[in-house]
Amino acid sequence: MVLLLNTYPLLVSEDLVFHSKVSTMQSSVWVMVSALSGLEELTEENVADAMTVAEETGLSRILVTDENGRILYDSRETDGAVNGYVLYTEVVQALEGNDASCCSYENGAFRSRAASPVLYQNQIIGAVYAYEYDTEQAVLLEGFQSNLLRISLVVGILVIGLSVLLSHALTSRIGELLRAIVLVRDGAYDHRAAVRGKDEIAQLSQAFNSMTDRLEQTEELRRRFVSDASHELKTPLAAIRLLTDSILQTEHIDPGTAREFVADIGQEAERLARITEDLLRLTRLDSGLPAAQTPAEVEPVFAQVLRMMELVAREKRVELVCVRSEACQVLATDDQLYQVIYNLVDNGVKYTPSGGRVETALNAEKGRVILTVADNGIGIPEEDLPRVFERFYRVDKARSRAAGGTGLGLAIVRDTVRRQGGSVTVENRPGGGALFTVSWPEAREGGQKV
Ligand code: ADP
Repeated sequence: MVLLLNTYPLLVSEDLVFHSKVSTMQSSVWVMVSALSGLEELTEENVADAMTVAEETGLSRILVTDENGRILYDSRETDGAVNGYVLYTEVVQALEGNDASCCSYENGAFRSRAASPVLYQNQIIGAVYAYEYDTEQAVLLEGFQSNLLRISLVVGILVIGLSVLLSHALTSRIGELLRAIVLVRDGAYDHRAAVRGKDEIAQLSQAFNSMTDRLEQTEELRRRFVSDASHELKTPLAAIRLLTDSILQTEHIDPGTAREFVADIGQEAERLARITEDLLRLTRLDSGLPAAQTPAEVEPVFAQVLRMMELVAREKRVELVCVRSEACQVLATDDQLYQVIYNLVDNGVKYTPSGGRVETALNAEKGRVILTVADNGIGIPEEDLPRVFERFYRVDKARSRAAGGTGLGLAIVRDTVRRQGGSVTVENRPGGGALFTVSWPEAREGGQKV
């Protein structure tokens, strides 16, 4: 690029000088030709007379020849060329009736030549040849050339210096980002890349940071889940060990107490089974099994859950009511629907004291299937509302355990419903108690959502 910037103006200016030289030479030759015009024949004498104009032109050499190329006049009479013959290309062309001119630049000088025929009544009677040797303009051109070279060098050095600086700044920022990526890859999830400016690298760092935020959250959730899960599994196991130790260490244990202890062991084992079952369910949801492609009728599953829970509710003296039940379909399996509805109704009954009431309803409206489970039980403190869907989150651990809860029921509900394209929300009712609402997109036969 710099080379092009350097040579192009030079070539252009050289070309311009050539053009101007050629045209001034040609006009000078024409002036001399017109001084000779009107002569019938060219002789040394009449040419010498007419060539007084030649002295004013300042040209290096002027030759006038007759029609055969014999020199009749030479402004540089030093070498006694008069009467000799010239065979310059331009003279030959002029004697053939053409104007000829050329200019060249050699060894720091412009050499320009021009020749034209001298006519008398359309007959070529001779030729005028002019030659100019010019070093003045050549010196100017050389000065221009060396200045241009210096400027180009300075520009080149500046460009190279700037690009080195820029690329250094760029690579150091990319290097910084790379270091952050390596650190996070190796487990430093709290490390963040520095975000400077608004360019692509800054955007990349920002995207990387938000990805790391997600990673940190996921990692935190995973850690909490593993520690909660092991804690939940350890509690019934510890109880089982304690009970077996008591049986083994008590000599002459009476059969009644032994039965009681074994029954407790059975209960703890059942609890373990429930937790592992729920954990497996969540793992299956996490592993991203494909969502159901065929629609399932919700109403029969809803009715089945209510029939099941009716017995439990009656035993606890809780009134379980179905306010409305409409025929509708969602893209899900019967098992998944059962799990969602069962967990919600079971919670409603579980967290409502005797004498309370649980109202359920299933509606299809505006392309959505809405399931509501409302109770007038203990309700959920406002600050716990956003967290009840978290795995192992329980407002009152002791109460939940006593009621046989695992703390995973609502997490299963949320994850299942989400996989089916729906959502679940919870709020407290003005009169006390909780209201859970599940909303699914309604599906039609053939697997299409409405
Ligand atoms: P659990 O097995 O403990 O019931 P869930 O995930 O089903 O676990 O529920 C999480 C927590 O949310 C429960 O421990 C309980 O504190 C609260 N909860 C759920 N449903 C209700 C409800 N209907 N009324 C009051 N609290 C509820």
